[in-house]
Amino acid sequence: MSKDESPSDVARWLMDRTAGAWPAMLGSLSLRRSPCIRENCAACRSGEQHPSYILSGRLHGRRISVYVPEELVPEVRRCLDNGRAIQELLHEAAPRYIKALKRARTRAAKQ
Ligand SMILES: [Zn+2]
Repeated sequence: MSKDESPSDVARWLMDRTAGAWPAMLGSLSLRRSPCIRENCAACRSGEQHPSYILSGRLHGRRISVYVPEELVPEVRRCLDNGRAIQELLHEAAPRYIKALKRARTRAAKQ
């Protein structure tokens, strides 16, 4: 991290760092157990029930949840990891970009 980076340096850094972080998504993946409709189901009788993965999150202020088949869980986890990594980078980018904008403004005023 250089102390005299320009706004375009910061933009380039952000694009480079996020280039490999796609596809990305935000939300939370949880495992739910629910009963089925079969009579005398061993899994339901034992209290184990049937596990299923749900991705939940918010979209335009409304709660959403999507069923995730078990075989897609690794891919969904990978996308969520990417989403968190990008979110961290955006938090890191905010002060760096603002500082770079201020430096550019100071430099322009001196010319
Ligand atoms: Zn059952």
